[in-house]
Amino acid sequence: MKVTFIKPNMGVVGGRPYLDRGRMEPLTFAVLAGLLPEHIECVLYDDRYERIPYSEPTDLVCINVEIYTARRSYEIADRFRRAGVKVALGGFHVSMIPEEAAQHADTIMIGDAEEAFPEMIADLAIGRLRKEYVGHFPPRLQGLRTRWQIFDNKHYLPLRLTQFSRGCPNNCEFCATGSLYRRTHCCRPVDEVVSELSEQKSPFVFFVDDNITAQPDLAKELFRQLIPLKKRWIGQASLSFTEDHDLMDLMKRSGCAGLVVGFESTDPENLKQMNKNCNMHLDSYAPVIEKIRDIGFQLWAAFLMGYDADDLKSIQRTVQWAVDQKFCFAAFNILSPYPATPLYAEMQAAGRLIYDKWWLDERYHFGDAVFKPAKMTADELTEACFWARRRFNHPVNIIRRVFDFKTNAKDLWSIATYFAYNPLFRRELFKKHGMKLGYQRTPNSDSA
Ligand code: SF4
Repeated sequence: MKVTFIKPNMGVVGGRPYLDRGRMEPLTFAVLAGLLPEHIECVLYDDRYERIPYSEPTDLVCINVEIYTARRSYEIADRFRRAGVKVALGGFHVSMIPEEAAQHADTIMIGDAEEAFPEMIADLAIGRLRKEYVGHFPPRLQGLRTRWQIFDNKHYLPLRLTQFSRGCPNNCEFCATGSLYRRTHCCRPVDEVVSELSEQKSPFVFFVDDNITAQPDLAKELFRQLIPLKKRWIGQASLSFTEDHDLMDLMKRSGCAGLVVGFESTDPENLKQMNKNCNMHLDSYAPVIEKIRDIGFQLWAAFLMGYDADDLKSIQRTVQWAVDQKFCFAAFNILSPYPATPLYAEMQAAGRLIYDKWWLDERYHFGDAVFKPAKMTADELTEACFWARRRFNHPVNIIRRVFDFKTNAKDLWSIATYFAYNPLFRRELFKKHGMKLGYQRTPNSDSA
Protein backbone atom coordinates (compact mmCIF):
# COMPACT_ATOMS: atom_id res chain seq x y z
CA MET A 1 0.00 0.00 0.00
CA LYS A 2 1.13 3.53 -0.73
CA VAL A 3 0.15 6.74 1.01
CA THR A 4 0.90 10.12 -0.58
CA PHE A 5 1.16 13.14 1.68
CA ILE A 6 0.69 16.62 0.25
CA LYS A 7 1.75 19.84 1.92
CA PRO A 8 -0.30 22.50 0.10
CA ASN A 9 0.95 25.92 -0.90
CA MET A 10 -1.01 29.04 0.05
CA GLY A 11 -1.66 30.73 -3.26
CA VAL A 12 -0.46 32.91 -6.09
CA VAL A 13 1.33 36.24 -6.23
CA GLY A 14 1.60 38.15 -9.50
CA GLY A 15 0.06 35.19 -11.33
CA ARG A 16 2.68 32.70 -10.06
CA PRO A 17 2.59 30.20 -7.20
CA TYR A 18 4.06 31.73 -4.06
CA LEU A 19 7.54 30.34 -3.42
CA ASP A 20 8.31 30.47 0.29
CA ARG A 21 12.09 30.65 0.73
CA GLY A 22 11.71 30.33 4.50
CA ARG A 23 9.85 27.03 4.47
CA MET A 24 10.45 24.46 7.19
CA GLU A 25 9.95 20.71 7.05
CA PRO A 26 6.24 19.90 7.52
CA LEU A 27 6.58 17.85 10.71
CA THR A 28 2.99 16.58 10.68
CA PHE A 29 3.72 14.20 7.82
CA ALA A 30 6.75 12.66 9.53
CA VAL A 31 4.56 12.05 12.59
CA LEU A 32 1.73 10.58 10.49
CA ALA A 33 4.13 8.33 8.56
CA GLY A 34 5.57 7.17 11.88
CA LEU A 35 2.13 5.94 12.95
CA LEU A 36 2.03 3.43 10.09
CA PRO A 37 3.77 0.06 9.78
CA GLU A 38 7.10 0.15 7.91
CA HIS A 39 5.77 -1.85 4.95
CA ILE A 40 3.41 0.97 3.99
CA GLU A 41 5.18 3.21 1.50
CA CYS A 42 4.90 6.89 2.38
CA VAL A 43 5.86 9.71 0.01
CA LEU A 44 5.62 13.45 0.42
CA TYR A 45 5.11 16.17 -2.17
CA ASP A 46 5.48 19.73 -1.04
CA ASP A 47 3.29 21.95 -3.19
CA ARG A 48 5.20 24.96 -1.85
CA TYR A 49 8.04 24.18 -4.23
CA GLU A 50 7.35 20.88 -6.03
CA ARG A 51 4.93 19.87 -8.75
CA ILE A 52 2.34 17.38 -7.60
CA PRO A 53 2.41 14.22 -9.75
CA TYR A 54 -1.33 13.77 -10.07
CA SER A 55 -0.99 10.67 -12.23
CA GLU A 56 1.42 8.77 -9.95
CA PRO A 57 -0.38 5.69 -8.59
CA THR A 58 -1.27 5.79 -4.90
CA ASP A 59 -3.87 4.31 -2.58
CA LEU A 60 -4.60 7.42 -0.56
CA VAL A 61 -3.74 11.10 -0.75
CA CYS A 62 -3.55 12.80 2.66
CA ILE A 63 -3.60 16.59 2.84
CA ASN A 64 -2.99 18.62 5.96
CA VAL A 65 -5.31 21.63 5.85
CA GLU A 66 -4.64 24.92 7.60
CA ILE A 67 -6.77 28.00 7.29
CA TYR A 68 -4.49 29.77 4.80
CA THR A 69 -4.09 26.64 2.69
CA ALA A 70 -7.72 25.50 2.78
CA ARG A 71 -8.58 26.83 -0.66
CA ARG A 72 -5.53 25.26 -2.30
CA SER A 73 -6.06 22.01 -0.36
CA TYR A 74 -9.58 21.69 -1.73
CA GLU A 75 -8.38 22.36 -5.28
CA ILE A 76 -5.80 19.58 -4.99
CA ALA A 77 -8.26 17.22 -3.32
CA ASP A 78 -10.93 17.84 -5.98
CA ARG A 79 -8.47 17.17 -8.78
CA PHE A 80 -7.31 13.85 -7.30
CA ARG A 81 -10.89 12.80 -6.68
CA ARG A 82 -11.91 13.62 -10.25
CA ALA A 83 -9.18 11.16 -11.30
CA GLY A 84 -10.66 8.52 -9.00
CA VAL A 85 -8.00 8.75 -6.24
CA LYS A 86 -9.21 8.60 -2.65
CA VAL A 87 -8.45 11.68 -0.56
CA ALA A 88 -8.24 12.14 3.22
CA LEU A 89 -8.20 15.63 4.73
CA GLY A 90 -7.05 16.40 8.25
CA GLY A 91 -5.38 19.08 10.31
CA PHE A 92 -6.39 22.08 12.36
CA HIS A 93 -8.82 23.59 9.89
CA VAL A 94 -10.60 20.28 9.32
CA SER A 95 -10.93 19.76 13.04
CA MET A 96 -12.39 23.23 13.50
CA ILE A 97 -14.98 23.02 10.69
CA PRO A 98 -15.20 19.40 9.49
CA GLU A 99 -18.39 19.94 7.48
CA GLU A 100 -16.56 22.22 5.04
CA ALA A 101 -13.65 19.82 4.43
CA ALA A 102 -15.98 16.82 4.10
CA GLN A 103 -17.26 18.24 0.79
CA HIS A 104 -13.81 17.75 -0.74
CA ALA A 105 -12.76 14.41 0.71
CA ASP A 106 -13.55 10.71 0.79
CA THR A 107 -12.73 10.75 4.47
CA ILE A 108 -11.73 13.30 7.08
CA MET A 109 -9.74 13.17 10.29
CA ILE A 110 -11.03 15.26 13.17
CA GLY A 111 -8.64 15.93 16.03
CA ASP A 112 -5.36 14.18 16.70
CA ALA A 113 -4.36 11.27 14.49
CA GLU A 114 -2.47 8.92 16.84
CA GLU A 115 -5.06 6.14 16.96
CA ALA A 116 -7.42 7.25 14.21
CA PHE A 117 -4.93 7.40 11.32
CA PRO A 118 -3.75 3.76 11.59
CA GLU A 119 -7.42 2.81 11.87
CA MET A 120 -8.20 4.77 8.70
CA ILE A 121 -5.42 3.00 6.79
CA ALA A 122 -6.49 -0.42 8.08
CA ASP A 123 -10.08 0.28 6.94
CA LEU A 124 -8.82 1.43 3.55
CA ALA A 125 -6.90 -1.83 3.15
CA ILE A 126 -10.09 -3.86 3.54
CA GLY A 127 -12.20 -1.49 1.44
CA ARG A 128 -14.21 -0.10 4.34
CA LEU A 129 -13.10 3.49 4.55
CA ARG A 130 -15.45 5.49 6.76
CA LYS A 131 -16.47 9.09 6.05
CA GLU A 132 -14.98 10.36 9.27
CA TYR A 133 -12.42 9.41 11.91
CA VAL A 134 -12.27 11.16 15.25
CA GLY A 135 -9.07 11.24 17.27
CA HIS A 136 -8.96 10.42 20.94
CA PHE A 137 -9.18 13.46 23.21
CA PRO A 138 -6.94 14.28 24.89
CA PRO A 139 -4.37 12.80 22.51
CA ARG A 140 -2.26 9.89 23.72
CA LEU A 141 1.31 10.77 22.84
CA GLN A 142 3.22 7.73 24.07
CA GLY A 143 5.25 5.54 21.75
CA LEU A 144 5.39 7.95 18.80
CA ARG A 145 8.29 7.64 16.41
CA THR A 146 8.83 10.39 13.91
CA ARG A 147 9.72 9.21 10.38
CA TRP A 148 11.93 12.15 9.44
CA GLN A 149 13.27 10.10 6.50
CA ILE A 150 10.24 11.34 4.60
CA PHE A 151 12.16 14.62 4.25
CA ASP A 152 15.26 13.04 2.68
CA ASN A 153 16.22 14.90 -0.52
CA LYS A 154 13.70 17.65 0.21
CA HIS A 155 14.65 21.30 0.52
CA TYR A 156 13.97 23.01 3.82
CA LEU A 157 15.64 25.38 6.25
CA PRO A 158 18.45 23.58 8.07
CA LEU A 159 16.69 22.80 11.33
CA ARG A 160 15.01 19.68 12.67
CA LEU A 161 11.41 20.13 13.77
CA THR A 162 9.97 18.15 16.64
CA GLN A 163 7.26 18.34 19.26
CA PHE A 164 7.22 17.68 22.98
CA SER A 165 3.67 18.76 23.78
CA ARG A 166 0.33 19.75 22.29
CA GLY A 167 -2.31 22.20 23.45
CA CYS A 168 -2.16 25.03 25.93
CA PRO A 169 -3.78 25.65 29.32
CA ASN A 170 -4.56 29.26 28.40
CA ASN A 171 -7.65 30.37 26.60
CA CYS A 172 -6.88 33.40 24.45
CA GLU A 173 -10.09 34.11 22.58
CA PHE A 174 -8.48 34.42 19.14
CA CYS A 175 -6.48 31.20 19.37
CA ALA A 176 -7.49 28.02 17.55
CA THR A 177 -5.20 25.94 19.79
CA GLY A 178 -7.07 27.15 22.87
CA SER A 179 -10.41 26.24 21.28
CA LEU A 180 -9.36 22.87 19.89
CA TYR A 181 -7.52 21.57 22.94
CA ARG A 182 -9.99 23.02 25.44
CA ARG A 183 -7.25 24.26 27.74
CA THR A 184 -5.53 20.88 28.00
CA HIS A 185 -1.82 20.42 27.53
CA CYS A 186 -0.41 16.95 26.85
CA CYS A 187 3.23 15.96 26.78
CA ARG A 188 5.14 13.13 25.16
CA PRO A 189 7.31 11.04 27.47
CA VAL A 190 10.55 12.97 27.94
CA ASP A 191 12.81 9.97 27.31
CA GLU A 192 11.15 9.27 23.96
CA VAL A 193 11.68 12.84 22.75
CA VAL A 194 15.29 12.87 23.92
CA SER A 195 16.04 9.45 22.46
CA GLU A 196 14.67 10.52 19.06
CA LEU A 197 16.67 13.73 19.08
CA SER A 198 19.85 11.96 20.11
CA GLU A 199 19.70 10.06 16.81
CA GLN A 200 19.41 13.24 14.77
CA LYS A 201 22.54 14.75 13.28
CA SER A 202 21.11 18.24 13.02
CA PRO A 203 22.52 20.41 15.83
CA PHE A 204 19.58 22.80 15.57
CA VAL A 205 16.07 21.91 16.71
CA PHE A 206 12.75 23.74 16.58
CA PHE A 207 10.12 22.60 19.10
CA VAL A 208 6.86 23.48 17.41
CA ASP A 209 4.82 23.18 20.63
CA ASP A 210 2.41 26.06 21.11
CA ASN A 211 3.60 26.51 24.66
CA ILE A 212 6.55 24.30 25.55
CA THR A 213 6.81 25.43 29.18
CA ALA A 214 3.10 25.13 30.01
CA GLN A 215 3.86 22.32 32.49
CA PRO A 216 7.07 23.61 34.05
CA ASP A 217 8.03 20.40 35.89
CA LEU A 218 7.81 18.27 32.77
CA ALA A 219 9.56 20.95 30.72
CA LYS A 220 12.38 21.05 33.28
CA GLU A 221 12.80 17.28 32.99
CA LEU A 222 12.98 17.59 29.22
CA PHE A 223 15.57 20.35 29.40
CA ARG A 224 17.64 18.44 31.97
CA GLN A 225 17.82 15.44 29.66
CA LEU A 226 18.56 17.60 26.63
CA ILE A 227 21.73 19.09 28.16
CA PRO A 228 24.07 16.20 27.20
CA LEU A 229 22.87 16.30 23.57
CA LYS A 230 24.45 19.73 23.12
CA LYS A 231 21.81 20.93 20.66
CA ARG A 232 20.71 24.48 20.07
CA TRP A 233 16.97 24.82 20.11
CA ILE A 234 14.22 27.35 19.63
CA GLY A 235 10.61 27.03 20.70
CA GLN A 236 7.41 28.87 21.55
CA ALA A 237 6.33 29.79 25.05
CA SER A 238 4.04 32.15 26.91
CA LEU A 239 5.74 34.74 29.11
CA SER A 240 4.95 32.67 32.22
CA PHE A 241 8.33 30.92 31.89
CA THR A 242 10.01 34.11 33.11
CA GLU A 243 8.47 33.57 36.57
CA ASP A 244 10.57 30.46 37.20
CA HIS A 245 14.29 31.06 37.56
CA ASP A 246 15.23 27.34 37.59
CA LEU A 247 13.21 26.76 34.44
CA MET A 248 14.99 29.60 32.64
CA ASP A 249 18.34 28.31 33.81
CA LEU A 250 17.61 24.81 32.49
CA MET A 251 16.37 26.25 29.21
CA LYS A 252 19.65 28.06 28.83
CA ARG A 253 21.79 25.05 29.77
CA SER A 254 19.86 22.77 27.41
CA GLY A 255 20.69 25.03 24.47
CA CYS A 256 17.74 27.40 24.15
CA ALA A 257 18.80 30.05 21.66
CA GLY A 258 15.55 31.87 21.15
CA LEU A 259 11.82 31.85 21.67
CA VAL A 260 8.67 32.88 19.88
CA VAL A 261 6.61 34.78 22.45
CA GLY A 262 3.13 36.22 22.05
CA PHE A 263 3.18 39.78 23.38
CA GLU A 264 0.09 40.44 21.23
CA SER A 265 -0.44 44.01 22.44
CA THR A 266 1.04 46.66 24.70
CA ASP A 267 -2.44 47.90 25.63
CA PRO A 268 -4.00 46.40 28.80
CA GLU A 269 -7.50 46.91 27.35
CA ASN A 270 -6.63 44.76 24.36
CA LEU A 271 -5.03 42.06 26.51
CA LYS A 272 -8.17 41.95 28.62
CA GLN A 273 -10.43 41.73 25.60
CA MET A 274 -8.39 38.90 24.08
CA ASN A 275 -8.27 37.10 27.45
CA LYS A 276 -4.47 36.96 27.32
CA ASN A 277 -4.22 35.92 30.96
CA CYS A 278 -0.55 35.08 30.82
CA ASN A 279 0.30 38.71 29.93
CA MET A 280 -2.52 40.55 31.69
CA HIS A 281 -1.12 40.26 35.19
CA LEU A 282 2.15 41.95 34.21
CA ASP A 283 2.33 45.63 35.15
CA SER A 284 4.82 46.14 32.40
CA TYR A 285 6.75 44.06 29.89
CA ALA A 286 10.01 45.78 30.82
CA PRO A 287 11.15 43.49 33.69
CA VAL A 288 10.36 40.26 31.83
CA ILE A 289 12.11 41.44 28.69
CA GLU A 290 15.11 42.38 30.80
CA LYS A 291 15.19 38.89 32.34
CA ILE A 292 15.04 37.30 28.89
CA ARG A 293 17.80 39.59 27.62
CA ASP A 294 19.96 38.86 30.66
CA ILE A 295 19.81 35.15 29.97
CA GLY A 296 20.56 35.76 26.30
CA PHE A 297 17.54 34.36 24.43
CA GLN A 298 16.78 35.99 21.10
CA LEU A 299 13.11 36.89 20.90
CA TRP A 300 10.64 36.50 18.07
CA ALA A 301 7.85 38.75 19.33
CA ALA A 302 4.34 38.17 18.01
CA PHE A 303 1.77 40.96 17.93
CA LEU A 304 -1.88 40.94 17.01
CA MET A 305 -3.16 44.15 15.44
CA GLY A 306 -6.77 45.22 15.22
CA TYR A 307 -8.27 44.71 18.66
CA ASP A 308 -10.73 47.37 19.74
CA ALA A 309 -8.29 49.66 21.56
CA ASP A 310 -5.98 49.79 18.52
CA ASP A 311 -5.84 52.80 16.26
CA LEU A 312 -3.26 53.98 13.77
CA LYS A 313 -1.24 55.81 16.42
CA SER A 314 -1.14 52.84 18.80
CA ILE A 315 0.09 50.58 15.98
CA GLN A 316 2.88 53.05 15.22
CA ARG A 317 3.82 53.18 18.91
CA THR A 318 3.89 49.38 19.14
CA VAL A 319 6.23 49.08 16.18
CA GLN A 320 8.57 51.71 17.59
CA TRP A 321 8.49 49.93 20.95
CA ALA A 322 9.37 46.61 19.25
CA VAL A 323 12.30 48.26 17.45
CA ASP A 324 13.46 49.84 20.72
CA GLN A 325 13.38 46.44 22.44
CA LYS A 326 15.71 45.17 19.69
CA PHE A 327 13.65 42.05 19.17
CA CYS A 328 15.46 39.64 16.89
CA PHE A 329 12.32 39.11 14.80
CA ALA A 330 8.71 40.23 15.11
CA ALA A 331 5.44 39.19 13.52
CA PHE A 332 2.75 41.85 13.18
CA ASN A 333 -0.25 39.67 12.54
CA ILE A 334 -3.54 41.16 11.54
CA LEU A 335 -6.35 39.95 13.76
CA SER A 336 -8.10 37.27 11.67
CA PRO A 337 -11.02 35.48 13.30
CA TYR A 338 -10.60 31.72 12.92
CA PRO A 339 -13.79 29.69 12.59
CA ALA A 340 -15.05 27.97 15.75
CA THR A 341 -13.16 30.34 18.04
CA PRO A 342 -15.03 32.60 20.50
CA LEU A 343 -13.66 35.58 18.58
CA TYR A 344 -15.24 34.40 15.33
CA ALA A 345 -18.62 33.82 16.96
CA GLU A 346 -18.52 37.24 18.58
CA MET A 347 -17.59 39.06 15.36
CA GLN A 348 -20.20 37.18 13.38
CA ALA A 349 -22.94 37.93 15.93
CA ALA A 350 -21.99 41.61 15.92
CA GLY A 351 -22.09 41.75 12.11
CA ARG A 352 -18.44 42.79 11.97
CA LEU A 353 -17.18 40.16 9.52
CA ILE A 354 -16.61 41.51 6.02
CA TYR A 355 -16.64 38.02 4.52
CA ASP A 356 -18.03 35.04 6.42
CA LYS A 357 -15.59 32.49 5.04
CA TRP A 358 -12.70 34.80 4.29
CA TRP A 359 -10.27 31.88 3.79
CA LEU A 360 -12.29 30.76 0.75
CA ASP A 361 -13.42 34.14 -0.54
CA GLU A 362 -12.18 35.19 -4.00
CA ARG A 363 -11.96 38.80 -2.85
CA TYR A 364 -9.64 38.09 0.07
CA HIS A 365 -5.89 38.72 -0.21
CA PHE A 366 -3.30 37.61 2.34
CA GLY A 367 -2.86 40.45 4.83
CA ASP A 368 -6.35 41.93 4.39
CA ALA A 369 -8.43 42.86 7.41
CA VAL A 370 -11.53 40.66 7.29
CA PHE A 371 -13.61 42.53 9.86
CA LYS A 372 -14.61 46.09 10.73
CA PRO A 373 -12.15 47.41 13.35
CA ALA A 374 -13.44 49.73 16.08
CA LYS A 375 -11.22 52.77 15.54
CA MET A 376 -10.23 52.67 11.88
CA THR A 377 -11.43 51.28 8.61
CA ALA A 378 -10.56 47.76 7.48
CA ASP A 379 -8.38 49.21 4.70
CA GLU A 380 -6.54 51.38 7.21
CA LEU A 381 -5.85 48.35 9.39
CA THR A 382 -4.62 46.36 6.37
CA GLU A 383 -2.25 49.17 5.40
CA ALA A 384 -1.13 49.78 9.01
CA CYS A 385 -0.15 46.13 9.45
CA PHE A 386 1.74 46.07 6.19
CA TRP A 387 3.46 49.30 7.24
CA ALA A 388 4.32 47.75 10.64
CA ARG A 389 6.07 44.81 8.96
CA ARG A 390 7.93 47.07 6.53
CA ARG A 391 8.97 49.45 9.26
CA PHE A 392 10.23 46.82 11.69
CA ASN A 393 12.12 45.07 8.88
CA HIS A 394 13.45 48.24 7.26
CA PRO A 395 17.22 47.85 6.62
CA VAL A 396 17.95 50.76 9.00
CA ASN A 397 15.97 49.07 11.77
CA ILE A 398 17.56 45.69 11.05
CA ILE A 399 20.96 47.30 11.61
CA ARG A 400 19.74 49.21 14.66
CA ARG A 401 18.31 46.11 16.32
CA VAL A 402 21.40 43.97 15.97
CA PHE A 403 23.24 46.10 18.54
CA ASP A 404 22.12 44.18 21.57
CA PHE A 405 25.21 42.53 22.97
CA LYS A 406 23.23 40.33 25.34
CA THR A 407 21.18 38.68 22.59
CA ASN A 408 21.44 39.42 18.85
CA ALA A 409 25.14 40.25 18.91
CA LYS A 410 26.24 38.12 21.84
CA ASP A 411 28.27 35.71 19.69
CA LEU A 412 29.00 34.92 16.07
CA TRP A 413 26.29 32.30 15.86
CA SER A 414 23.61 34.77 17.04
CA ILE A 415 24.81 37.43 14.62
CA ALA A 416 24.83 34.90 11.77
CA THR A 417 21.28 33.79 12.60
CA TYR A 418 20.16 37.39 12.81
CA PHE A 419 21.55 38.31 9.41
CA ALA A 420 20.55 35.04 7.75
CA TYR A 421 16.88 35.44 8.59
CA ASN A 422 16.09 39.15 8.88
CA PRO A 423 16.72 39.93 5.19
CA LEU A 424 14.90 36.71 4.24
CA PHE A 425 11.83 37.67 6.28
CA ARG A 426 11.93 41.17 4.80
CA ARG A 427 11.84 39.75 1.26
CA GLU A 428 9.05 37.31 2.14
CA LEU A 429 6.83 40.00 3.67
CA PHE A 430 6.78 41.89 0.37
CA LYS A 431 6.23 38.70 -1.62
CA LYS A 432 3.38 37.48 0.55
CA HIS A 433 1.42 40.68 0.89
CA GLY A 434 -1.64 40.72 -1.33
CA MET A 435 -1.37 37.03 -2.23
CA LYS A 436 -4.56 35.40 -3.52
CA LEU A 437 -5.29 32.15 -1.72
CA GLY A 438 -5.54 29.06 -3.92
CA TYR A 439 -4.44 28.77 -7.56
CA GLN A 440 -7.78 28.61 -9.33
CA ARG A 441 -9.56 31.80 -10.23
CA THR A 442 -12.24 30.07 -12.27
CA PRO A 443 -13.48 26.53 -11.69
CA ASN A 444 -11.43 23.69 -13.24
CA SER A 445 -8.56 25.90 -14.41
CA ASP A 446 -5.93 24.29 -12.17
CA SER A 447 -3.05 23.19 -14.32
CA ALA A 448 -0.36 23.20 -11.63
S1 SF4 B 1 -0.97 31.29 25.21
FE1 SF4 B 1 -0.58 31.09 23.00
S2 SF4 B 1 -1.09 28.95 22.48
FE2 SF4 B 1 -1.96 29.39 24.51
S3 SF4 B 1 -4.10 29.95 24.09
FE3 SF4 B 1 -2.88 31.85 24.19
S4 SF4 B 1 -2.25 32.26 22.06
FE4 SF4 B 1 -2.96 30.13 22.16
